[in-house]
Amino acid sequence: MYSHQNKNSPKIVVFGSCSVDFTTYAPRLPNPGETLHGTKFTTSYGGKGANQCVAAAKLGGNAYMICRVGDDQWGEKYRNHLKETGVDVSHVYITPNVTTGIAQISVADNGENQIVIVLGANGHLSKKDAADSHELIKSADVFIGQLETPFEATLEAFKINEGIKLLNAAPARSDIQEILPYCTILCLNEFEASMLTNLNVNLENAVDALNKLLSAGCQTVIITLGSKGAVYASKDEPPTHVFCEPVTAVDTTGAGDAFVGALATFLLSHKDLPMHQKIGAACEVASISVTKEGTQTSYPTNYTPFIKQY
Ligand code: ATP
Repeated sequence: MYSHQNKNSPKIVVFGSCSVDFTTYAPRLPNPGETLHGTKFTTSYGGKGANQCVAAAKLGGNAYMICRVGDDQWGEKYRNHLKETGVDVSHVYITPNVTTGIAQISVADNGENQIVIVLGANGHLSKKDAADSHELIKSADVFIGQLETPFEATLEAFKINEGIKLLNAAPARSDIQEILPYCTILCLNEFEASMLTNLNVNLENAVDALNKLLSAGCQTVIITLGSKGAVYASKDEPPTHVFCEPVTAVDTTGAGDAFVGALATFLLSHKDLPMHQKIGAACEVASISVTKEGTQTSYPTNYTPFIKQY
């Protein structure tokens, strides 16, 4: 248990999703109507919001989660899990007569997968929840949102917060222009950046996407590039490529979430580091996570960024 809630420490508040992943492994994916014998079954805690919150908490961040779970067994289990990880769960709301969000994942031996997501309680996170959490949202030093829960609620929460507003624009969407002027930092991967800018984004042409998103009102834009690290630019900083040491990936699930949670932590714990070093350290945390199986279980604890030239 990594409990470190401290009312006087700077707060990281995450507003978003939590869901339970049920994963089966089989030699191949079933055809419609077919029943197959699988080889393994795992249950794990996921959802982008909770992943990011747990990543921050495991690194020592003072992390708070605002989310909705159902009144089924998974809601209570997820709440307890967050608490044990050191996350403040006083704003984990329970929706009656609804299931907790789940993902049913099938993985074949060749790596192909099929995923069915049921939003459940995640779909009920509302503008009213943002209003009911007004004080916590307003006072967050770093406030994080994503796009797995209703957009209008996230937008409302971004209007309330007075700190660093960090939007992870995932999963990919093209219709979120309204929130961009509220983003202190917009963080997204190449696919999400392509969807949002209508450009085919890669390392070579990322500058065009960065400029387009800055013009849309974001103060800083970060595009993560898998094993190639990340590129970023700000209103007052030119585009910069932050390299990361490529690693052999075992499981990349949740790498982007590890990056977001780590960045939020370093924005507060290493305020004086230049932005490219904070991003470099977040890349390093994400690269550690891809060397291990699992999502939240792959996120490191006790990582301290080195002062090094990225
Ligand atoms: P996911 O959807 O799998 O959670 P993502 O697509 O949102 O991830 P990526 O850009 O693929 O995000 O990866 C996020 C960060 O993870 C990268 O910026 C990088 O720091 C790290 N990373 C991912 N893959 C590798 C790798 N093979 N070697 C080193 N670092 C990696």
